[in-house]
Amino acid sequence: MENGTYVARLEEIADLLQVTGANPFRVRAFQKAARVIDGMAEDLDTVLAEGEVTAVDGIGKSIAEDLRQIRERGSCDLLDELRASLPDGITDLLRVQGLGPKKVKALYEELGIGDLDALEARASEGRIAGLKGFGARTEEKILKEVERLRRTAGRTPLAEAWPHAERLLGLLREVSGVERAEIAGSLRRGRETVGDLDFVVASREPGPVMEAFATDGDVEEVVARGDTKTTIRLSGGLSADVRVVPPEVFGATLHHFTGSKEHNVAIRSRALKRGLRVSEWGVFRRDGEDGGDATDGELVACATEEDIFAAVGLPFIPPELREDRGEIGAAEEDRLPELVTLEDIVADLHMHTTASDGRHSVARMAEAARDRGLKRIAITDHSRSLTVANGLDARRLRAQMEEIDAYNAGDPAVRVLKGLEVDILEDGALDMDDDVLAALDWVVGSVHQWMGQDPQTMTERLLRAIGSGFLHALGHPTGRLVGRRDGFTFDVDAVFDACADAGVALEVNASPWRVDLDDRLIQRALERDRLMLTINTDAHSTAELGQMHFGVRMARRGGCPRSRVVNAQDESP
Ligand SMILES: [Zn+2]
Ligand SMILES: [Zn+2]
Repeated sequence: MENGTYVARLEEIADLLQVTGANPFRVRAFQKAARVIDGMAEDLDTVLAEGEVTAVDGIGKSIAEDLRQIRERGSCDLLDELRASLPDGITDLLRVQGLGPKKVKALYEELGIGDLDALEARASEGRIAGLKGFGARTEEKILKEVERLRRTAGRTPLAEAWPHAERLLGLLREVSGVERAEIAGSLRRGRETVGDLDFVVASREPGPVMEAFATDGDVEEVVARGDTKTTIRLSGGLSADVRVVPPEVFGATLHHFTGSKEHNVAIRSRALKRGLRVSEWGVFRRDGEDGGDATDGELVACATEEDIFAAVGLPFIPPELREDRGEIGAAEEDRLPELVTLEDIVADLHMHTTASDGRHSVARMAEAARDRGLKRIAITDHSRSLTVANGLDARRLRAQMEEIDAYNAGDPAVRVLKGLEVDILEDGALDMDDDVLAALDWVVGSVHQWMGQDPQTMTERLLRAIGSGFLHALGHPTGRLVGRRDGFTFDVDAVFDACADAGVALEVNASPWRVDLDDRLIQRALERDRLMLTINTDAHSTAELGQMHFGVRMARRGGCPRSRVVNAQDESP
């Protein structure tokens, strides 16, 4: 079981304890244990197996016992009791932004609200505004939140799905007899949320693959197990499918399960006009009239996706573009964009160090960046008004600039640019002295506070910041958090035009929680010839420098070529 699963269980216990009004010290013990496990480098499974878990600071005897039970059966007695004593819908209520366990407790006790439906009904009746500590604004926010949760129901954020996908893919590739294994579905297309995980495997022996998948340590339930297809539900609720096919039809199956549905429909109808039938089982030549089974007729080459596209007279279309948004026409006319790749990225221009809320020093970040093949990085810690992140004032920033100069003067792993992620304040002013900003190599301007402004105020605020002449990039431009918070709204055209005029690049923030800008906005940005993008990890640790691929995929979904990415150019910055 992954450490993240234990963390989720402990957090659920802490939340539910709070809803039942438990002793705050007890709640804090579970919260602390969750944080400790979250920060652990080792697998908790191993630590538990060796019986040394109480030696870990922050985990006492009774929580150690809970963890052992969770390891064995995915839950523990305490969690079972808590779940049984409260309505099932309470967990959904806890996911409503701005509620939290204390407010959920009040709603449950005062108004008997135990699920989203009841929450929505009472809020529409105006009964929540009257509760102590709530008010009309909270009620309005609750209604918006319920709508957002409904919209995203059943989809898992990329950031949560990816670790499972990566691990299962590794597992499948290790199984004997497997020639190829790939992730398909919306994850392969680079979407920010996924419905479930799809894997396609080429092998002549499906048995061992079915066995490996169904007996994985993170499986909560084997939903269906067949000869060539198995569906599992992982702890945490995400489902995963694996299909095994012979290598000679792998391309057709991979193409089919990569989707999107709309793209597949368009490809199939194109195939029909050419006397072919395309399905997950392969590409077949149709003899004469319509009808017949999916596998009737002569099998056409389809071991690779290139074969599939070639069969319908097209060049290869990258998965990120397969949304039936004009990619087939573009392929037909040979004007598909040459999309930026991870290998094109030579610099990472947004990251944090221990000076603000990052976990590693300038030198450690530089070494890790070199190990990932980068040539340059920009250190962009937070500015002073972001006190929760220990933001830098002018004095501390100047000290860091000297540190970076000294580092570059030595034998640097990569060239380090002196930068800052400066907060764009409520009125659009920048949270740093002009003379210091002018002395920096790279300034990212970001909105982290006052995010609830109306669109007009937000637009004016952004325009003022862009017009300051100090910014090189606009960081995570909409502020969205996938599955948690919608981005704020502003006049996109006005802001993008201003960025193009001022030479300010728009960031595609590669954190899987953000991937901001999204594909649609990237497409809109690219319509302006002079507007550049910059894809950055916003890493808060050396490990997070590995997030770049999420941003690159989102840029590719937006149709972004290398030429439009600032940090894919060999020349500065
Ligand atoms: Zn930021
Ligand atoms: Zn940042």
